[in-house]
Amino acid sequence: MKQNSNFHSHCTFCDGRNLPEDFVEAAVTNRFRAYGFSSHSPLPFETSWNMSKPDMPDYLAEIKRLKNKYAGEIELYLGLEIDYLDATCNAAIPYFQSLSLDYSIGSIHFLPLNHTLNKEDMACIDGPYRDFEMYLNEYFGGDIRRITESFFASSMQMLETGGFDIVGHVDKIYMNGIRHPGFDLQAGWYQKPFLQLLDLIAEKGYIVEINCKNYARKGQTFPHVTSFQELSKRNIPVIVNSDCHQADLINDGREEAIALLKEAGYKATTELVNGSWQEVGI
Ligand SMILES: [Zn+2]
Ligand SMILES: [Zn+2]
Repeated sequence: MKQNSNFHSHCTFCDGRNLPEDFVEAAVTNRFRAYGFSSHSPLPFETSWNMSKPDMPDYLAEIKRLKNKYAGEIELYLGLEIDYLDATCNAAIPYFQSLSLDYSIGSIHFLPLNHTLNKEDMACIDGPYRDFEMYLNEYFGGDIRRITESFFASSMQMLETGGFDIVGHVDKIYMNGIRHPGFDLQAGWYQKPFLQLLDLIAEKGYIVEINCKNYARKGQTFPHVTSFQELSKRNIPVIVNSDCHQADLINDGREEAIALLKEAGYKATTELVNGSWQEVGI
């Protein structure tokens, strides 16, 4: 039976390297059951990786065209990875809600530094380490705990605000965090807000993705493998996503992540099947 799927992917409409159809062809070749497009949402400012707002109609039309063209071969889904910036810019606002997406991923890449949504008023936590360190020193007094607190505070607000289905790379802060002295995934100051976040996820019923984009290169999953048991304990539904930016990486790290999920007690992932969220055995 065809069990492979991926619901987190980036194509040439944002910072992906291949055309949407290239990803579909790779997915069909790899006998995927389902494939979801989740371009980085447009923001109030331009970045090198987010979609531009004027491109949205073409994006929607192209994914719909592919859905029709490949119907019967693979289930294709139209989504977005939507940044939570603040109460005025997130997945719940009318602009995103009016797009009639099949699903969306809520993610934190930027921490707002004040109430102005300009690029220079944002600390990006998902870029190169040298940028992370610059933001950390300039805006958080060099205190790794403060930037981590800010990340979890934004994440809690995102969960409360809603408007999306899947929580994207729920603990992305550790990617750069662990490179800084004093950061400790097991420390109380880290674990307390992180577990509160998982409690709220369970209460609200979100799906958490196991993001395996960095697995092959760095052995990392988001969330970190040491927290899979905590997800399992709370019966949090999970989905395994490669967050690929290239068509040859659509399945990268997925098998390994699924094996780790099984070790943590998971027997199924939760995915779109014929248009509704259902459990799929692993
Ligand atoms: Zn992301
Ligand atoms: Zn992504």
